[in-house]
Amino acid sequence: MQFRPLGRTHESVPVVGLGTWGIGGEMGPDSSHDEAGIRALRQGLDLEMKFIDTAEMYGAGHSEEVVARALEGRYDKVFVASKVSPRHFAYDDVLAAARRSLKRLGMKQMDLYQLHWPSSRIPVSETMRAMEKLAGDGLIRHIGVSNFSVEQMKEAQESLSHEKLASNQVEFSLIDRSVEAGILQYCQKEGLTLIAYSPLGQGKIPRGKGSSFKVLDEVAGRLGKSRNQVALNWVLQHDSVVAIPKAAAMDHLKENADVAEWKLGSEDYQRLAKAFS
Ligand code: NAP
Repeated sequence: MQFRPLGRTHESVPVVGLGTWGIGGEMGPDSSHDEAGIRALRQGLDLEMKFIDTAEMYGAGHSEEVVARALEGRYDKVFVASKVSPRHFAYDDVLAAARRSLKRLGMKQMDLYQLHWPSSRIPVSETMRAMEKLAGDGLIRHIGVSNFSVEQMKEAQESLSHEKLASNQVEFSLIDRSVEAGILQYCQKEGLTLIAYSPLGQGKIPRGKGSSFKVLDEVAGRLGKSRNQVALNWVLQHDSVVAIPKAAAMDHLKENADVAEWKLGSEDYQRLAKAFS
């Protein structure tokens, strides 16, 4: 597994992590679905994708419980990220939400705690004051945001008095490249990690048809990789980017873990960029 620095921290994270939306519990507790989710997460961890992304919003907290059961003290050095929902962005609510997430995760400290979406209701300065309090109390190690624009990232950074913003989690894939309009460049310039969510377009890339997908299949065939591996690798060609695909199937998990072991050539990168522009 390859690692990349997390923002300007001294921490590194695997370039391919494990998304959890849909891995057990997104519809609330269901024991058979939970068992499948736990199995998938453990398989992913065995394949060295030791970076799990979850959120209090997923399954109203149940996804965090599934993550806790998958970990159950058996894995070392797994980087665990969760997210606080905008309805909990007031100062006291952030502190309470973090404690609830920690309890569900069965942990004393989260590695990364992210603001799930920007809020138009609560000033980011208030939320960031609470995030710094959590960091100061040792309940979280790093602070991140998600779905923030460049302006919102700037404001979030300026609201922090002594911590640095580590990351922005945003959608990025061959079929959704809106981050290229500024967010990607800002993250690279300011030393933030861009955590790419839905890097397989929520399953649209595996199923995609048409001329751009023909180019993707041609590149994949020549390299002896699957189209999904090439699509993920394309995202990872960008500095400062790591990806968190969600996969429940074992063959998908194996494919995704392998993506960190090779590199797309620059000609293929450019061809794909053009084909999907
Ligand atoms: P995704 O990872 O782009 O796509 C998931 C789909 O792709 C699943 O149907 C999965 O199938 C399939 N898949 C995975 N690997 C594959 C492979 N190698 N070959 C073929 N198919 C493959 O979509 P996502 O779940 O939306 O995004 C990933 C994670 O990002 C989420 O789980 C969540 O943690 C995070 N996220 C965050 C936000 C946010 O607002 N911050 C929003 C959306 C998502 P199987 O499950 O059957 O294996």
